[in-house]
Amino acid sequence: MSSSTRIVPSGGDVVAVRAGMQIGRARRIGFILVVTALVAGVAEASPWAGITTPSAGPPAVIGAAANGCVAGAVALPEAGVGYLSIRRERNRYHGYPRLVEFVEDLGERLARHQDLVMLVGDLAQPRGGLMDSLHVSHQNGLDVDIWFRLVPTMQSVAWRAGDIGALPSMVQPDGSGLSVHWGPPQRFLLQAAATDPRVDRIFVNPVIKRALCESETGDREWLRRVRPWRGHDAHFHVRLACPPSSPECIATPPLPVGDGCGAELAWWFSDEARRPPAPGGARQPDPMPAACQALLYGP
Ligand SMILES: [Zn+2]
Repeated sequence: MSSSTRIVPSGGDVVAVRAGMQIGRARRIGFILVVTALVAGVAEASPWAGITTPSAGPPAVIGAAANGCVAGAVALPEAGVGYLSIRRERNRYHGYPRLVEFVEDLGERLARHQDLVMLVGDLAQPRGGLMDSLHVSHQNGLDVDIWFRLVPTMQSVAWRAGDIGALPSMVQPDGSGLSVHWGPPQRFLLQAAATDPRVDRIFVNPVIKRALCESETGDREWLRRVRPWRGHDAHFHVRLACPPSSPECIATPPLPVGDGCGAELAWWFSDEARRPPAPGGARQPDPMPAACQALLYGP
C-alpha cells in the first residue's frame, strides 16, 4: 500500500467496496469494516495466501471484491508494452482475464502517448480470496493497483532487476494540494483508465479528486468513476465491472449520478473525516460464496 494520507485515517482498500454507498451509511459501515479487518486480518493467516496456482477450468468471477474469489485466473506477465509488474514475490499478479487485458491495454495506451512505463502493483492471488494483510478487496480478480510514479522506458530495466526506488505521494504532506510528483502524465493515465468501458470505478486520494474537479474544463463524465478514498495518494485502485459471463459476480453498489465533486467530496475535508474511526461494533464478515469454498481446496 501507499504511504498514508495526512487528510484522513489510513485504510487503503479496506473499505473501498463501500464507496459507492450513500455517504452517511458508508461512513458508519466503513468504519465497522475497518475494525473487522483489523481483528480478522491480524489474528489469523488467510488460507488463500498459501495457494500458489490458479484453478483449472473456465474463468469466472465469484462473489464481491471484498468477499470473493476468481476461478481460472491468468497471470499478468512481468513486463509488457508500457507497464512493469512489481513486487512479484507477493504472488498477487493474477486476475480474471479481462483484468489482465485491461492492464496490458492501458500500458499500450500510455506507451503510445509518452515514453513511459507504469508500475503495476497488486491484482489478486492465484485464486483470489483474502490476502494476508489489511488489503481486504482485490479478492475476485477485478481489482488492480497502479502506481502514479511513472518511469522512463529505459529506467524500467533497472526496476525489473529489483531496484525499486521511491513510490512518492502525489499529495503534499499538509494535504493542501498535489505534490511536485503529480503532472500531466499522471492525469493522462488516470483519465485513460477512467474512460475505459471495462472500468467500474477508480479510488484516489480526496486531494487528487479535488484537484481533478477544479481543473477539468471539458467533459466531466470521467470524473464520476474517480472516487475519493483514504490513502491512494501514491497509487490508484482500479475496479472493473462484473463481466456478463460471470453470473456469480457481486457488483459494488452503483455510483451516484454526477461527477462526484459536490457534497461527497466535501465530506472528506470535514472534521468528521479527519477523526480516527471509533473502536468497537465489529461484525462477523459475510460467509464466503459456496463456490469459493470449493475453489479453495479444489484442483
Ligand atoms: Zn487496491
